Amino acid sequence: MKNFWCEVDLQKISNNINKIRSGTSKKIMAVLKGNAYGLGIERVSEFLTPRVDCFAVTYFDEAHMVQSSKDILIMTPDYTDEDLRNSKKNFVLTIDDLGGAEKLTKSNQQFRAHLYINTGMNRFGIHPDRLDAFMESMEKYQGKIKIEGFYTHLHNTNNKKFTLSQIELFSSCVGGLSHRAYNFHLLNSNGFVKFNKQCSFDNMIRVGGILYGFDGLKQGYQKTYQFKASPINVYQVEKGKNIGYGSFYKTPRDITVGILDFGYIDKFYCPETIFDNKFLSLMGRVYYRYQYRKSITYHGKPVKILGSVNMNYTLVDMEDLPEDSVFDVDISPLAADSSVQKKYI
Ligand SMILES: *Cc1c(COP(=O)(O)O)cnc(C)c1O
Repeated sequence: MKNFWCEVDLQKISNNINKIRSGTSKKIMAVLKGNAYGLGIERVSEFLTPRVDCFAVTYFDEAHMVQSSKDILIMTPDYTDEDLRNSKKNFVLTIDDLGGAEKLTKSNQQFRAHLYINTGMNRFGIHPDRLDAFMESMEKYQGKIKIEGFYTHLHNTNNKKFTLSQIELFSSCVGGLSHRAYNFHLLNSNGFVKFNKQCSFDNMIRVGGILYGFDGLKQGYQKTYQFKASPINVYQVEKGKNIGYGSFYKTPRDITVGILDFGYIDKFYCPETIFDNKFLSLMGRVYYRYQYRKSITYHGKPVKILGSVNMNYTLVDMEDLPEDSVFDVDISPLAADSSVQKKYI
């Protein structure tokens, strides 16, 4: 068993939701893609079920892992026959072309769907000018496909002018429909944090980052996860010896070494694997010393990494710390392998 895990503080996820709710009455669609941003889709969806209105994932496989009977939007407008055969009542599909829609009418099932509009990202989507014609063409599928919502995606929220024009485009495009009981959603985390006030025709937000504390930390959302590790072995190396691959590190004194069992397989930094060129690898090592010297800490105090990071192990200078010290390790859970053990508190 690895002595390396990711602690997920569910209470903080709940705090983040309360913060969202205090700023809006729009419904919350919680995004669970990428294994709930690395935090574990099963446990997180179960926890979120009584706290949010519905969910979104990227793929059918993910929708099957969600532990909830609430609606789950599947955001990829592409489906195999098998996906459709196994689709459940609470699955809501994404449609962005008539070919895809036609495919849904081939089975006896009735499908629920949201239409995805391309307002500038140019990744999937119905062109805004063609939405009216598209809706007309969809009329013949009534009874087979139930359209319940419309959405688009903000892809450049750092650009205020562009994003406001994108919001305006989507608004004008679906504006004529809003007397009907549809869901309209376009605000992702940064969209919500920055533009919620300027966006009033929508009735749902579609967020991941601010739920888990990837985004919005400056606005008071809380980071909900922390990687932790404790040494699997501690031993002495005397002064003047090398430590690790390539003998890059030479001990300036007698050193107490701790072995932590995570490494670059867990996406913890390694110059050799990122820069396979000798010169860049050297640059990388310099950068690494600078950037990563604070990524393993003990009660907020940086712990020194000895030599280069290995595939599965990282060696640290224990100094006078107890052998069973628990260190905080900074890795994005997105990047970390989802097989990393999660501990929910
Ligand atoms: C990932 C994603 C979201 C959520 O984005 P956050 O910035 O994490 O809130 C919303 N919509 C789509 C289409 C996405 O791919």
